[in-house]
Amino acid sequence: MQFSELQESLSSPKKIMITMHMRPDADALGSSLALMNFLEILGHDVLVVAPTEYPQFLKWLPGNINVVIDHSETREHISQFIVQADFLCCLDFNCLPRIGELGELVRKASGTKILIDHHLQPEGFHDFALWNPKASSTAELIYDFIDLFDKTNLINKDIATCIYAGIMTDTGSFRYPNTSAKVHHILADLIEKGIEHSEIHRKIYDDNRADRLRLLGYALSNKLKVFPEYHTAYISLSYEELMKFNYKQGDTEGIVNYALSIHGIIFAIIVLEKEDLVKMSFRSVGDFDVNTFARSHFNGGGHHNAAGGKSDYNFAETINKIEALLPKYSSSLAECHNKLNK
Ligand code: 5GP
Ligand code: MN
Repeated sequence: MQFSELQESLSSPKKIMITMHMRPDADALGSSLALMNFLEILGHDVLVVAPTEYPQFLKWLPGNINVVIDHSETREHISQFIVQADFLCCLDFNCLPRIGELGELVRKASGTKILIDHHLQPEGFHDFALWNPKASSTAELIYDFIDLFDKTNLINKDIATCIYAGIMTDTGSFRYPNTSAKVHHILADLIEKGIEHSEIHRKIYDDNRADRLRLLGYALSNKLKVFPEYHTAYISLSYEELMKFNYKQGDTEGIVNYALSIHGIIFAIIVLEKEDLVKMSFRSVGDFDVNTFARSHFNGGGHHNAAGGKSDYNFAETINKIEALLPKYSSSLAECHNKLNK
């Protein structure tokens, strides 16, 4: 589908479902709420669906009250909406298993599927895509999407706040290589829309529970394993350890970056034993491609320097598998490290 056709179709009120990946982060949720707000201003009937719960520190985002989380009691309402929707907007993911059981419902739906995303290797289920793996964030692409309609004048403080939150977290507070000049131009425009940028930082990054900080302390002092010969470090936390610190979703976000910050380390991993699966986050600096690593070994994917995956093995076996893989990447890791001078 061409953009002109989409624009024409959206010139009269439509039923639109917006969804995002499981365990949504600020980019997924912020993008969805910004798009919801924009489409509602245009007069559409919008339902935002989160496939799972998400951290408390995101729940202040403007429009959050409208998000329907998928579970047994909401499923009927969600599936009906999916069947009836004229458009289904898929934000911040590009393969349908990333939205869990909703994936097959969306796949079968007859409405037009819109993909807005910046992850590598899209599955190809969409009819229209605004896809750019070089974009800092999906939130940046939401700004671009609104710009395609020539309607950035409609970006109000709430939309701007949601877009800012997404760009902020996906750029590591504007410091990763994806923070282009264009990103800064967008940010300047958002600030002119009246956002309180300092508040946004505080609400997302400085709203911890003591338990979360104690878990971080424990992870760093007891569970950090460094392999200088492979320029790699990992942290693993079992279900029991997480429970000991009264784990809540989002508590481990950012921990892997401490491992990556170690001198000489270019590849960092966190392994988490959740109730129903073993989940991993991979981070790198420079040329080492964690997207390929996650895809090849852990049914995952993401970006070149930030990816995630899950394991078919149990917690202990997963850790063994990681340790057994490292020697196989020894020369690649050494080469990438040498290029970096880290
Ligand atoms: P995180 O480690 O913060 O959960 O995710 C890092 C990046 O990888 C994000 O862009 C996220 O969307 C992606 N990602 C995380 N887990 C998975 C996964 O299981 N499969 C795929 N395809 N991408 C993932
Ligand atoms: Mn993102």
